[in-house]
Parts: sequence; structure tokens; C-alpha cells
Amino acid sequence: MSVIIELDSSGSRVRGVAGERAAPVPPKPANEGHGDVRKKIVPLVKLPAGPSATHWEGGAYLSLPQWLEGAEEGGAILLQPSDDVRELRGRIGNAALIAVDFPRIGDGRGYSHAFLLRQRLGYGGPLRALGAVTADQVFALARVGFDSFALRADQSAESALAALGTFSVPYQDAPVSGADADRAQADFDAKVRLLERTLMRIAERQGRPALASSLSAEDMVVTDAIARLGLPIDVFTLDTGRLHQETVAQIAATEQRYGLKIKVYRPDARAVAAYVAAHGADGFYESVPQRKLCCEIRKVEPLSRALAGRDAWITGQRREQAMTRGQLEEAERDEARDMAKYNPLAAWSWADVLAYAERFDVPMSALYARGYLSIGCEPCTKVVRPGEDPRAGRWWWEQEDSKECGLHTNVIAR
Ligand code: SF4
Repeated sequence: MSVIIELDSSGSRVRGVAGERAAPVPPKPANEGHGDVRKKIVPLVKLPAGPSATHWEGGAYLSLPQWLEGAEEGGAILLQPSDDVRELRGRIGNAALIAVDFPRIGDGRGYSHAFLLRQRLGYGGPLRALGAVTADQVFALARVGFDSFALRADQSAESALAALGTFSVPYQDAPVSGADADRAQADFDAKVRLLERTLMRIAERQGRPALASSLSAEDMVVTDAIARLGLPIDVFTLDTGRLHQETVAQIAATEQRYGLKIKVYRPDARAVAAYVAAHGADGFYESVPQRKLCCEIRKVEPLSRALAGRDAWITGQRREQAMTRGQLEEAERDEARDMAKYNPLAAWSWADVLAYAERFDVPMSALYARGYLSIGCEPCTKVVRPGEDPRAGRWWWEQEDSKECGLHTNVIAR
């Protein structure tokens, strides 16, 4: 028997019981009986065989292939991590429930499923998470659009509710209608046109401009506009060696989608080795100077190499991202590098970025679906809560005013 937690406009509450759930699989070393487990780089837990549940309150779940073969009026779909959710486009109509299976902790593909269902396919019906769902995941799950969670009978509903904290807003924003909607649409259209004009002007005026992309949503927006307009603006990225695997994977995916080459700059291996020998691989947690030194080695020096010989660079920075970016200008002079610097999204809101991604079907990092709002190095970035500054998830152990890595000084506007 499982506890279901539901969310609606009045907050979260325990509703009742879900259908039959498979018992949790006890951790078992995959290399059991084959030597010292510490020397093996293998998963320590075997994946459960089959789905985490076979039934919901209304009957048996259908797998995605079964649903596509013959959708049942009022039936429920159970999606697995490897399913291609896009196959449901135009085929969801009569589903009473879509459930997403998280067969093991650490597999984030279920978050991407929810994001696609809500944001790309416009699914507005019940969406449930089940499987290896734990109390501390519940908040992130709610954020991407899950409105119920089936916890195992041995998990505490009270802990899960506590994890939701003050969360009391349903995933859907209040609809904007009438004149307000028209104004918002016109404002957004103007921002898109201005972005396009700015990029065209940069391409005309500058000899060797380049976009420094972290594969964040903002940088993907600028990349999309550059590619759509066929502008002679290079795109490069910095692979610090500490990025999330999702970010690394997105480099190739972006190249494929837009048919462009993203040049990758990496830190000097000897400088990294010297840092690790002196401070340890994670020495950045110990002090701001040690953190800044790590950023200098892994980000700033590679950026200088990437910008050598150029006369302009472009970023996806926005003013509302952080206190340190509140005065950001659309066009600046990077005096240290003696070149122009453009921030064409300076005045954009996060809603603008999402609206652009929606309109032009821009591929977004799977990390957003997991609750990240700022994309950075894996050990220095965490999920943020609603209302927090998007950069609050970066170097969270430091004071707000130290939260820049040295890539952006943003000092001289023109
Ligand atoms: S963000 Fe963290 S891991 Fe990445 S370069 Fe800076 S200190 Fe190092």
C-alpha cells in the first residue's frame, strides 16, 4: 500500500493509497564476490526488473507502446525513463493519469518527461511520480509539474510534506487574458525582434565576434537566434572538467540540432594538477580565494584563450539573475581584454527565456527539469527554491556579493 500526496491550489495534502507497488530492492554490490568494491567503478545497486508499479486506483497501467497501440478511454500510462515522450504528441487526450517511473535514485530522465509533457505537449492532466521517489525529491518534482507522488508504504508522508515547505502554488501560472495578454505578447515579440537586430548589427560591425555559451537556457536562446539568422558569429564553450554530464552531452546535441561547431576550451592540465596537489580536488569549498583560484584556472584562463584575437564577445547574462548583475548593460566595453562585450538578454525575464524556448522549440538542459536555474560546475551548483535568486544555487556557501567567477566583470558601460 502506498501513500499518495497531491498538490493543488490550496497546497499539499495526503489523499490515500495508490495501487500495488513493488517492494524496494535491497542494495547489492554489483561485483559481489569479486574483490575490493572500492576499486570497482560500477553501480552498487542492481536495477529492479520491470516497472515500479503495475496498477493505479483505476486499474492496470499501460506502458507507452501499449497506449500507442490502443489508448483506453480513462486509462493511465506509466512512462519509463527510456520512453520517447514526444510520441505522445496529439495522443494524450483521453488519459485519466500519466505516471512517470523513477526506477532508481539518480536517474533524472523522469524530470525531463514531466517538463516535456507540461511545456512542450501542453499536458494539463494529472501527473504522478512513483518509484524511487524520496521526501527530499518531492519539492523538485512539484516544480516540474508533478501534482501527486506515490510514496512507498515505508516512507513518511509527513517528511515529504515537510520537504515541500511553504510550497503552496500549483505548477500552472494564473492565465493571463484579454488586453494584458495582448500587451505581454507584443512586449515579448519586440524583445525577440530587438535580439535579432542586435545580433545582426554585431555581425555587421565586428570582425570576429563569438558567443560564450555555458549551454544555459539563455545561451541556447542566443545560439538559436544566431543559427536561425545564419549569422557569422562563432559559438564556444568552456569545459571546466567539473560540468554535469547533462551539460557535456548538450554540446553534441546542440551541434547536431543547429548544424554548427561549438569550439570547446579546456583548462591547462598542469595548472589543474598543481591546484589539486596544493588544495585537493574540492579545495574551492574551503575559502573564497581558493574558489576563485579554481575558477581562474578552469574558466578564466580558458576564456582568455577563447577570446584571443577577437574583437567582441556575447553573453546570455540577464539583470534579474543576481544582485551582481543588476546594473548590467546591453553593450559594454571589456577594458581588460580591449574588446566589445554584448549582453543582448540583459532586460529579459526568465519568463521571456522560457517563452522563446517554447516558440522556437529550443533544446533545454535536462538540469532545468531537475530544478536547477543556473548552469555551472556540478560541485558548485545546486537546485534553488521558489523566490530565490537564480544564482543562489551557485557557490551557496559564500556571500551574495562574491558570486561571480571572474568571467564577467561588467564594469564599464557605454
Ligand atoms: S565553479 Fe567550482 S569547480 Fe567550477 S571552476 Fe569554479 S570553483 Fe572550480
